Formats: sequence, structure tokens, C-alpha cells
Amino acid sequence: MTKDKSRNQPVIRRHHQGIGTAPPKVDDMKATLKRIWRYMYQEKKKFNVVLAMIVLSSGLSLLGPYLLGAAVDEIIEEPNTGTLWTMLSLLFGVYVFQSLFLWLQNYWMINISQNTIYKMRNHLFSHLQRLPILFFQKRQQGELMSRLTNDMENVSRTLNTAVIQFVTSILTITGTLLIMLWLSPLLTLFTVTIVPVMYFGMKWITKRTGKYFKEQQKHLGDVNGYVEEMFSGQTIISMFSREERVIKDFEAKNEALKNSGYWAQTYSGFIPKLMNMLNNVSFAIIVGAGGLLALNGSISIGVIVTFTTYSRQFTRPLNDLANQYNMILSAVAGAERVFQIIDENEEKQDEQLAEDIKEIKGDIEFRSVDFSYEKENLTLSNINFHASPGETVALVGPTGAGKTTIISLLSRFYEINKGSILIDGQEIHSMTRDSLRRQMGVVLQDSTMFHTTIRENLRYGRLDATDEEVEYAAKAAHAHEFITHLPDGYETVLDSDGGGVSHGQRQLLSIARAMLADPALLILDEATSSIDTVTEIKINDALSKLMKGRTSFVIAHRLNTIRAADLILVLQHGEIIEKGSHQELLQQEGFYSGLVRAQQAEGKASV
Ligand code: ADP
Repeated sequence: MTKDKSRNQPVIRRHHQGIGTAPPKVDDMKATLKRIWRYMYQEKKKFNVVLAMIVLSSGLSLLGPYLLGAAVDEIIEEPNTGTLWTMLSLLFGVYVFQSLFLWLQNYWMINISQNTIYKMRNHLFSHLQRLPILFFQKRQQGELMSRLTNDMENVSRTLNTAVIQFVTSILTITGTLLIMLWLSPLLTLFTVTIVPVMYFGMKWITKRTGKYFKEQQKHLGDVNGYVEEMFSGQTIISMFSREERVIKDFEAKNEALKNSGYWAQTYSGFIPKLMNMLNNVSFAIIVGAGGLLALNGSISIGVIVTFTTYSRQFTRPLNDLANQYNMILSAVAGAERVFQIIDENEEKQDEQLAEDIKEIKGDIEFRSVDFSYEKENLTLSNINFHASPGETVALVGPTGAGKTTIISLLSRFYEINKGSILIDGQEIHSMTRDSLRRQMGVVLQDSTMFHTTIRENLRYGRLDATDEEVEYAAKAAHAHEFITHLPDGYETVLDSDGGGVSHGQRQLLSIARAMLADPALLILDEATSSIDTVTEIKINDALSKLMKGRTSFVIAHRLNTIRAADLILVLQHGEIIEKGSHQELLQQEGFYSGLVRAQQAEGKASV
């Protein structure tokens, strides 16, 4: 059950938003939006408030320029300070209320989106806890992390801003267009001529930037991956004096990133400049055409003033909409990845009649068990053996023979295809998974420790253990001494990857944890890596104490352990090819005795 380190490489996905980036891939936009909506719908009342605020603020943003135009006309007709003050106060009121509504809608929207994300994140996390082990083995840890953090963040950011902007943009564009048409259809025509120019200009740039942004993403991924690899392999690099070579490789990757970044930024930097220029052109057209229309008396000067402001109000949301669309796509893609996990089947519920088992004696039997991970190939076939309470079973065989799988089946991480597994004569099928797993203690060679104090890590074995009990178990496992020599003693905080204590010490801790749990069944994965002799003696002594009176399954590598086992199962290609005690197997003169002889000839103590 050693962990495959390559599965733990974090994969950080980064999304660039905005114009110029390649749109993210979305499978079913409508369905996903509906699902997000279902989370948001629980905040329906607040959502209605936000919508009302959006309508009010958009309405006022339309009213502002109209009043400005009307003010200009009023003053031309009746040039006195009274009119000026009235119009100015009105305008002031409009802008103050508009800001107020904008602030309120923002406030409520953030409230909604944070609540929504909170619920989604909780849902995702609790679902992850209920997924079968196979699900995690099939995926990279980094990839899953990325969904919980990056993808969620992406959805959250979009909900915060894009929803409001999207609705506001649509309302503003429609409203502006309608009022402009009402004021002067002809001038409206002149104003909107700029839109197709903007559209095609933007498309031209987007096509170019898209390519470079994609390249930039790829090179960024390369650089990140390389740095990550270097961090984890720093010792090897130093040992083989590869620093120069590594620096050269990095420079090449960095150069590629620089080049793609340069072009991506240059092209996308054009966009605001182009927009600005086109806005100015549009301004000139309105003033020119409006001036002519005003001269022949078909519109007033005020209308020109109104139009110049409207023209900006009209083109900016168009630009925003393009931006938001990419942002929304990216969030939807993120949400889809989150929902994919939520849709994964949970570990099967316990059978209806499954019962909680309390104390077991530890009699284990496998009867004609067949099992396969994938449908076609049998990983284990016809596994038969029996272990009486308190016995030690050693599992021996080459890598991939199926040793770990047998243990996973006993813990019921997977369901068998055929046969039966019995504990104290009762099928494990009829026991609840929780109560079954509570009977087992696990000591792996790469034992997981959590990022908390040593005391809490040990207590993971039994949550209600008192401090005295924790220390008693640590003493029995020969861990107490080194713990008390640490500056913070039992309060020392461990890194989750086991940093802070040595490999051997970590094993002692996991033995102590198992002792505290006091299970009837024990699963041990013997260390293959060498540990200093003193620690090894301690580990062996602690283990033999731990194993006393418990049925133990050992994935064994050392001849000494195997020799002491009551039952040795020799596995090859998923089958038990020999079984018996050390003496019995030696007499059989088969695979096992050959293995032992070869080891002895080499003078090694491990198999
Ligand atoms: P051992 O512990 O003896 O090294 P395992 O029990 O880990 O062997 O593996 C037995 C076989 O099952 C191997 O061929 C391995 O590739 C395969 N296997 C192990 N875990 C999985 C898994 N999660 N999905 C598919 N195949 C697996």
C-alpha cells in the first residue's frame, strides 16, 4: 500500500480571462447554469433585491445623460441661474442614487455568491469523503485540489461580478438604443455605424492573441512543471552536480515563455487603444452629424450632448459583454469539473441488513475469492486461506502479485467478484463498513500523518483516548523517548508529508497510533527502505508487542518476519502458489524454498 508519489504532483490550472484568450471548453452550458442556479435559488429573496437594484441603477444611468441634454437645452432657452441650479440638483440626485443602488447590488450579490460557493464547496468536500478509494487512485491529487480551490474560486469570482455586469450590460444597451431611437433615429444610425467596425477590429486582434495566449499557457505550464520537478529532485540534482544543465534547460523554457508572453501582451494591449480611438471617432461623427442636424433644426443641441454620453454607454457594455462571456464560459467549465465529481457514485451504501460488529476474535477466512479491478482481467483468482485468532499471516511475492489487493479486500475497499470473506465465520458483506474498519489497525511503511500535533496524530487511533493513554501507547511503541526530546514534545506539529520526524520515527508513531486503537486485526506493510539499526530494533520490538494477541497480515520483505509467521502465502500473478509455515514450505522444495536459498546465498536477510 505504498503511495505512488507521481500521483501527487499538483496540477495547477490557470484561467486567463478576457478578450484574446481561447474560450474554455464547455460541455453543456445550459444544464450547468441551471445547476448553479439551483444553489443560488436558495437565496432567491436576495436575488430579487439585486435584480431590482440593477434595474434602478441602469434606469438612472440612462436618465443621467438625458437630463444633461435637457439641462443644456433649458439653459439655452432660459439662461438664468435658477434653471441651472434646478437641473444640477436633479442630476446630482440621479448620480447619488445611482451610486447607492450600485453599491447595494454589489453588497447583496457578494453575499449571494459567497453563500452559493460555500454550499457548493461543502457539498463537494463531503461528497469526496464518501467516494470509494478507487476514485482517488485513478486521479492525481493535484488535479482534485485544483477543483476544490481554483475551479471554485473561478466560479465565485464570476458570480461576484459577471452576473451583475451581464444583466446591466443588456439593460443598458437596450435602454440606450431605445432612447436614442426616440430622440433621433438618424443620429442613432450614425452612432451605431461604429459597432461593426469595432466588432471586426476586435475579431482581428482576438484571432492573433488567442494563438499567443494558448502558447503562453503551455509554456507557463512547462516552466511551472519544471520548477516543481526541480524542487522535489533538488537532492539528486546536487548529488549529480547537474546544476548547470538544469539552469540551461530552465533558461530555454523561460525564453519560450517570454516570447509568447511578449506577443500575447502586445496584441491584447492594442484592444483598449483601438477602443479608445474608435470611441473618439464615434464622438466626432456624432458632433459632426449632430451639428448638421441641429443647424437644420431637426434636433436640439441638448440631444447632441445626450448622444455623446450615450455613445460611450453603448459601446462599453458591448465590450464588457465580450469579456464577460469568456469569463462566464471559464466559470461554467470550472463548475462542470466540480459537478463531475459531485456526480461520481458514492461508496456503495451498506446493505440493508448489514449489522455493526462489536468485538471480534479475529478468525479470518478467504473462500475461493476472485477479484478484478477492471472488468476483464482477474487480479486475484481462487484465493483460499484460513487464519486463526492471533496468528500472523505473511504475504510474500513479487511486486504486482496481489498482496496489497488481498488486504484491501479484507478492509472492503472493493467488492469481490466471487467467493466469500469471513470474519469469525460471518461474511464481511453483512457487516457495516465502518464497524469492520474499526476492527483494523494499519501500519504502513509510508504512514500518513496529518498536519497537526503528534498528540492529535496519535489520538487519531482512538479519539476519546486520554493524554495518559496516548503517552502509554507511545512508551510501548518506543516513541515516547524521541518525542520528549523534541522541543515541543507531544505538541510538535508534523507536516502532512511527514516532515519533522525521521522515517523510522514516523513508523514508531504509526505503531503507537495502532496500539492506542487496540484493534483485533492488524495490517502491516514492512519497510523496504533501510532504517538505522537502533531504530529498527525498536520498531521490531514495538511491532512484536503490537502483534501479540492480534491476527496480523504482514506484507513481508524480511526473512526473519516471514520465518516467524504462522502462515505464509506465496503469491504470483494473483494466485496463491504455495502456502504453509516456513518449515512446511522449505520441505515442499518449491518457489519459496528457492527464494530463501537464493537470499541466503546472497547473505541478505530480506526476500
Ligand atoms: P502487490 O501489493 O503484490 O505489489 P497489488 O495488489 O498492488 O500487488 O497489485 C496487484 C495487481 O493489481 C497489479 O497488476 C496492479 O497493477 C493491479 N492494481 C493494483 N491497484 C489497482 C487499481 N487501483 N486499479 C487497477 N489495477 C490495480
